[in-house]
Amino acid sequence: MSDCLFCDIVARTLPATIVHDDGAVLAIRDINPQAPVHVLVLPHEHIESAATLTAAHDGLWAQMLHMAQAIARDEGIEQSGYRLLTSIGRDGGQTVPHLHLHLLGGRHMMWPPG
Ligand code: 5GP
Ligand code: ZN
Repeated sequence: MSDCLFCDIVARTLPATIVHDDGAVLAIRDINPQAPVHVLVLPHEHIESAATLTAAHDGLWAQMLHMAQAIARDEGIEQSGYRLLTSIGRDGGQTVPHLHLHLLGGRHMMWPPG
């Protein structure tokens, strides 16, 4: 076990419901779903948040977006719409310090978020 929850899920030392894994980007079901579809899309590489991405990660960031798009299609929410978001740091509400996109759909999203 490492000291990072999502690194442990990537390493398969912690169980998760895996939606897709292309070897660099992993998608899992959120353990505490906030919508009918709530998937987390995260890089295998430990990157703390979107705030620590660099130009070297441009391809990886795009790969995360493309996986989210494909999952939205597979989950049948492409037409109805969905929300993609990433939280950064304390005031951003980030609780797991390993970069991840939330893919939320299957219900109408409100604004502003809490
Ligand atoms: P954050 O608060 O960092 O934006 O999002 C972290 C997300 O990870 C939360 O939505 C939370 O429910 C989810 N989460 C926390 N622990 C686990 C876990 O052990 N497994 C899975 N699949 N999701 C988790
Ligand atoms: Zn990690």
